[in-house]
Parts: sequence; C-alpha cells; structure tokens
Amino acid sequence: MTLVGIDLGTTNSLVSYWSEDGPKLIPNALGEFLTPSVVGVIESNGTSDILVGKAARERLITHPELTVGDFKRTMGSKKITKLGPNFEFRPEELSAFILRSLREDAINHLGQEVSEAIISVPAYFNDIQRKATIDAGKLAGLKVDSLINEPTAAALAYGLDEVEEQQFLIFDLGGGTFDVSILDKYDNVMEVRATAGDNFLGGNDFRQEIQTHILTGNELELSSLDGRDLNRLFRLSEKIMHELSRKDVAHYTIVIGERTLEGSLTRDAFEELTSPLRRRLRVPMERAINDATLRPDNIENVVLVGGASRMPRVRRMVGRLFQKLPLSHLNPDELIALGAGVQAGLKLRNEALEDVVMTDVCPYTLGTSAIVGDNYDNLVIVPIIERNAVVPISQSHQFFTVRNKQTEINLDVYQGENMRPEDNILLGDLKVKVPASRAGVEGVDVRFTYDINGALEVEVTSLTTKKTTRKIFRNEANLSDDELEARFQALSGIKLHPREQTENATLLARGERIYAESLRGGREYVRTLILEFEDAINDQANRDIEKIRTAFSKELDALENNIFDMD
Ligand code: ADP
Ligand code: MG
Repeated sequence: MTLVGIDLGTTNSLVSYWSEDGPKLIPNALGEFLTPSVVGVIESNGTSDILVGKAARERLITHPELTVGDFKRTMGSKKITKLGPNFEFRPEELSAFILRSLREDAINHLGQEVSEAIISVPAYFNDIQRKATIDAGKLAGLKVDSLINEPTAAALAYGLDEVEEQQFLIFDLGGGTFDVSILDKYDNVMEVRATAGDNFLGGNDFRQEIQTHILTGNELELSSLDGRDLNRLFRLSEKIMHELSRKDVAHYTIVIGERTLEGSLTRDAFEELTSPLRRRLRVPMERAINDATLRPDNIENVVLVGGASRMPRVRRMVGRLFQKLPLSHLNPDELIALGAGVQAGLKLRNEALEDVVMTDVCPYTLGTSAIVGDNYDNLVIVPIIERNAVVPISQSHQFFTVRNKQTEINLDVYQGENMRPEDNILLGDLKVKVPASRAGVEGVDVRFTYDINGALEVEVTSLTTKKTTRKIFRNEANLSDDELEARFQALSGIKLHPREQTENATLLARGERIYAESLRGGREYVRTLILEFEDAINDQANRDIEKIRTAFSKELDALENNIFDMD
C-alpha cells in the first residue's frame, strides 16, 4: 500500500510519490509525466473503453462528441457531460477516470498496490468542490488521505516549509486559469492569507494572440476557417508559443484552406502582442497583496507555477514587480505534484504540515438569464455575483418586462461561467407578478445574497408594488453515500483502454487526426500508413512491433512538419 501525491489539473495531471531521495514523478504509459486531463470514449473490439490523456486529446479534434476536457472547472456542480449515445458523466466521474489512469501508472511503476492519495486543489475551492474531489478519488478506488492546497504544495516543492517564518507569493499560470496566493508560514502551519486570480486567463489566451496574428497577417478571417483548419492553427500556435520560450524566433508553415502560409514570429513581436495580457496578470497580484495587507517588499519569496509561467517575459515582469528573482529552477508544471509527493513523505513520517484552507469566496458565477436586444431568442446570462467574490456578499440588479401587458417575470437562477443559459447549471427559478403595462415599464429588483455555507438567497422586489418574493437555493451538488456507491458500481463496469495499448492508441489517434486535417494525396498516404500500422499490431506473430511503431511515429512527425497536402 503506497501513498501517492496527485495534481489533478485543469489542463494536465501528474502523480508522484515519496522516495528515499525525495519526491519523484511517475511517468505514464507514454513515459511522460504530464497526462492531459482529457477523457474520451473509444470503441475497441466491440466494447466501449475510456481513453485518458494524450490520445484523448488528439480525439478532441476527431471525435469531439465522444471526448471532453476542462471539466475541473465544473467540479462541485451537477453538470452532466454526454459522451456519445451511451455515456453520461458527472465531473467527479470524469475526474475519477483521470485518477484511475494515474493510479494504474503508479501501480505499474512502483510494482505495488496503490490505494491512497493526497490530491491538490485550488486554495479557493469550497467545501462542495473539495468533497467532489474526494468523491472522485473514491470512484477511482482511491482513499483520499487528504487534500492539499495547490499553492501549499508548490511551496513544499521548494522546501519553503523548512524556513521558520516567511510570507511568500505563488504565481500559478496554467492553461486556462491564473491563480495568485499569498501564504504565511509559521510554526507548523501554512496559512493562505489571500487568493486572487482570473479564471479566464492562461496559456490559451497567449496562444490565441499568435493565432490572430497569423490570421490577420494573411488577411484571413477566423469565421472563414473550418474546424480542421482551426484546430491545426491552435496546435501550430501552441508549438510556436512553446518554442518562443526557448528561442528568439519561430518559423512556421501551415495549410489553411487551399493556401500554404509561411512565416515567422519573433519573441519580441510575440511579447508585444501579449503585453495587454501581461498587464491583466498584474491585477490579481495587486489585489492579493492588498487583501493580505502587505506591500510587494514584504514578500520574501515568489514561486512560479504552471506551464505558461515558462514564458521569459512573464518571469521578468514578476521579478521586476517584486524586485527579486522568482524561484524557478524546477519545472513549473511539475511543482504541485512534487509538493504533493513531499506531503506524502511528511505523512509517512507522521509529521504532515497543517494546511490552512481558504474558502471564503463564492467559487462560481451566479446569475439569471435575460433577453438582450430586440430578439426574444437571445437569452444570455446576466451575472449578479461574479465568481471568486469574497463571501458573504449581496448584489442586486434590475430587470424590466419585455412584452406589452406582461404580468409575470420569470427568473431562472444559474450557476456557471458560460454566456448561454443552457451551458450553465440551472439552480431553480422564481416567478413574480407585476402590474400589466407597456414593455419595459414594469420592473423588479433582484438581489442575490451568498453566505459562507454556500447557500444563495434570491429576493425579487417589484419596483411598483414593492412586494418581495424570497427563495433559498442550496447547492446540493454532492453525491449521497448511496449514490456514490451506485456510481462506483456502475463505473467498475467501464474499463479504461488497456494501458499496454496506450502507445498504439495514441499513435493511431494522432494518425487519424492528421488524416482529418490533410487533403487529397496527403490523406491517402496517411490512410495507408494507419492501415499498415493496424495490420502490424493485430498480427500477434509480429515481433518487430517496437520498430514498426518507431517508423510510424517518424512518418507522422514528418507529416506533421507540414507536408499536409502532397498534391
Ligand atoms: P493546468 O494547471 O491548467 O493543468 P499547466 O500548469 O500544465 O496547466 O499549464 C498548461 C499551459 O502551459 C498550457 O497553456 C501550455 O501551452 C503552457 N505551456 C507549457 N509549456 C510552455 C512553454 N514552454 N512556454 C509557454 N507556455 C507553455
Ligand atoms: Mg495547475
């Protein structure tokens, strides 16, 4: 029985353990530490398996209706994701597949049973989100020994727990989110003094600037691109972004529609393009420092976390802001997992650090739906309490009738970050009477009050009659014990795609993605390669599979280096 540490990330997940030489990361079936947090369904030999990681990420492009990522954002909600006609999963269950896959990797690597884990969560996760994470562990057959706050884990990876007393800032720029935490270390406690962040700012936004740059430079409109072109552009831009963290200039070739575009982007130009994004990074840092009633020079250490903090200009900006070199000699996307491994080590010696939880923020945006403009079909979310607002909080908004002689206003209450109501979670509704009049004359004042226990009270008051209607919405998103047991049984019947086939599955998924993106001759060529490869892996007698795999992979590399259209 081994205790592992897990970083269950929005974009990537990792698993670690404590060894005699300190914390160690565990490679997945592809020999890589980062497993993309993407889950999909794949048909194989007449059964449906669950595919996790890189192969699933490839299939996000070729099989979008069977694949899903980014579900950490919905942890603690009841959001159901449909994967094809046969599967429906809650966020806990999708996370459980990731955990199951990491657990298999750990068992394989350590050669022993792995039944317990320490899992990291954002410091601002509330009780519902924390419980959902523990449930995800249970659904994966893992006892969650404890949760650890992500910033605390990052600090542990740098041994900051060994310093007697200090205040430090954790700067975590991931794929889609940016989190800033200020921690205070004293005695045997790491206290989260303040958290701030931007849930819609991450590496993806920097990547997007490159996309836009390529499009405008070639007088192309985003709307003129089909899904394939778009995905190809995404990937190319990501590659350029990563290259520019190492090099001064990146060259590219890409086929869009019927055109082959060639060009290059310098690091200087990229930094120029992304300067508004870097300015946005300052806002949460300043807020966290203010919230903790500190000044930048009170911060003794700054730790860079998250893959996107590899960008040199981002590092420089942070250094300048705090007048000190940030700690950055460890890989930023591996830190949290390493820290969870340190915590596992501390636990094994029975001296785990006390980790103070901070959950006094409303973790979701709460709002209602309303019609904007003249089109009655244009229902959008009007946020009333924004995600990450410090609780308790009370905010109000006025709404008016949209039809003549309308006598009732119906308020649907939603939780979530998406623009369209149907993409969010409906918590319930409230109806109030208003006197009949011309459209836009009668209105209501809608007040949302969110308390520390996660209960939302909605009060609607008619502006003319002053009559108030109240309703309390409690987030009951967590599974009951019976439900958990039932879901556990159901999940036990669904198997992960066999680990020993991961390499082949990933190559095939990649081949199929390249096929989908190619045209004409290129397409035929990839198809031939895929079919040959499939024949080879189905041929039990074949002893050269390793060689064939390498050859196939090389061919795909060559194709990916832009020989998309061979005519
Ligand atoms: P998360 O915490 O969201 O799971 P990670 O910490 O793994 O995510 O960060 C993923 C992000 O980091 C992606 O946007 C990725 O493109 C970006 N990233 C990874 N390596 C680099 C690099 N060398 N340069 C710039 N961005 C990078
Ligand atoms: Mg992360």
